[in-house]
Amino acid sequence: MSFDPDRIGPDFIAYIKRIQTHANYEAHAFRLAKTLQMRVRVGLLNRAYPSNTSQSVIVLQPWYYGWSSEVLFHEIAHVLVFWSGLETNIIKEFGPDAGWKIIEKLCNQAIAFLRIPQPVVDAAVKKHGITARTIIELMRQTNVTYQMAMDRLVLDKPADARAAFLINNGKYVSGVSICNMRLPFWIGSRVPEPRIVLPRASLFRLPHGLGILGLERGGHIDDWYWEPA
Ligand SMILES: [Zn+2]
Repeated sequence: MSFDPDRIGPDFIAYIKRIQTHANYEAHAFRLAKTLQMRVRVGLLNRAYPSNTSQSVIVLQPWYYGWSSEVLFHEIAHVLVFWSGLETNIIKEFGPDAGWKIIEKLCNQAIAFLRIPQPVVDAAVKKHGITARTIIELMRQTNVTYQMAMDRLVLDKPADARAAFLINNGKYVSGVSICNMRLPFWIGSRVPEPRIVLPRASLFRLPHGLGILGLERGGHIDDWYWEPA
């Protein structure tokens, strides 16, 4: 895999998707590790020991061992960052301090992709399009949080412009996910009428008055919400 520092995120997403095809879209962390021939064992710290030449080993604290957990997905992602060649290139390009921070973020981002494989996203999109309802469908299918389902759909096509947001019942923005676009508000903003600031957004009213989930697609510029002078 060639290295382009401007495309680290999209390139890692593409790599994860290729590996998942190879692993038959296994979404259970332990079975995924096994399918990819990573050995998982119990130890004092959660850590990955990736290798290209022998078996990669993942160590998990006992209370994380034995089931599918986000900690295991994170460690699997560390092995994938290494296998993809990104680890070596990122450390070379950014140095160890910034480099390891970037790698940690990549591994956290990877969890949404490992937990929600492509066929689940494709089926949900086929049913509901690129809409807020699709985010709900992803949550129903895979038991992930709002934030994870939002990230998975918004980042699914890294060349598209998409954004998702969650507005709680107090009308404050409590979650945001963006790709190639900006929203006219951020976490903590009060947005009583999302329809007014984002007239074209797909909105889904959550049951029991829990708030509003929204999805906006490209075409907007950074300052689009300012009134003309
Ligand atoms: Zn880590």
